[in-house]
Amino acid sequence: MNLDALPGNQRLKAQLAHTDRLPHAILLGGPKGSGRHILARLLAQAMVCNRPDIAPCGVCPNCKRVAEGIHPDVPPLSNFVSSKDRDKKDIVVDTIRNLRADAFIRPNQAKRKVYLIDPAETMNVNAQNALLKVLEDGPEYASFLLLAENPMALLDTIRSRCVYYELTPPAGELPPTQAEDPKVTAALTRFTDSLRAKSELSLMEWSVEVQSSKLTRDQMAQFYERLLARCADALAGRPGGADLASALSRQEISALTDLTKTGSAAMERNVSPAHSAGWFGVSVWEIAEGSL
Ligand SMILES: [Zn+2]
Repeated sequence: MNLDALPGNQRLKAQLAHTDRLPHAILLGGPKGSGRHILARLLAQAMVCNRPDIAPCGVCPNCKRVAEGIHPDVPPLSNFVSSKDRDKKDIVVDTIRNLRADAFIRPNQAKRKVYLIDPAETMNVNAQNALLKVLEDGPEYASFLLLAENPMALLDTIRSRCVYYELTPPAGELPPTQAEDPKVTAALTRFTDSLRAKSELSLMEWSVEVQSSKLTRDQMAQFYERLLARCADALAGRPGGADLASALSRQEISALTDLTKTGSAAMERNVSPAHSAGWFGVSVWEIAEGSL
C-alpha cells in the first residue's frame, strides 16, 4: 500500500506497506495534527482503487472521486443525519441506523463501500451499540473507518471489533509534552507494584501514601491520565502495559480502565485528591480480589 502522502508515521506506514486487504473495521487514533484525516482518505481510496497492486493510485476515477469527496460508495456521515438531528453535536442512533440501512445497498461503482465516522467518540452509547450491530453483521463489502482523538472514550466492545492504527504527529510538530511529574511517577510505580504484589495491604498503604504525600488535584488527574494510557497499552499488548498485563486479566484491566475514567472525571469536579485516592484503592481491590 502506498501511503507516501501521509507525513511521518514511518512505523505505521511500514506496517501497512505489505497489507493487501484492509480490515473491514479500522479505528484511527491520534492527536490533532497526526494525520488521521489524511490516512482515512488514503485508506478509503485504497479500498475502492482500480489498481489494487499500487493502491491508492491516486489517479483512477475511484481515487479521484474520493479525493474530491464525491464518491457514491464513500458517502459522508452527514448524508445520514435526519433533519431533526441537524443541530445535535453528538452522533445519534438514528444517524447510525440510516447508515446501516445504506450499508445493505450494494456498492455502485467500487467493490467496497466505505463509511467514515468522525469524530467517532461523539457517538452516544445508543449510536455505538447500533454501530456494533453493523460491525458484526454488516455485508462483507461494507468497511468502516472510525477516527478518534481519544479512542479510550469509545465502548470496549467497539474498540475490540476494530483494528487499531495509532498515529503520531510528525517529529518537530509534537505538542509540548507535559514533563513527567516525579511525584506522579512514584505514585504510579507504587500502584502497579501493589497490584503485582497481589496484596490488599500494599494497596491500602498506597492510598495512605498518596493521601499523606498531598498530591494536588492536577497531579492526581495526571496519575489517572497516565494510568489510563498504561491500561490501553496493556489491552493492546504494548510494552508500556506489561506491568499491568502481568498483574491483571484483560477483563480486570477493562474494569480498571472504567474505574480510572471515573476517577479522572471526578478530578474535574470538586472531589479532593486524597478522597479520590482512598476511594480508588478500595475500588481497585474490589476488582482485583477475585484473582489476586
Ligand atoms: Zn486508484
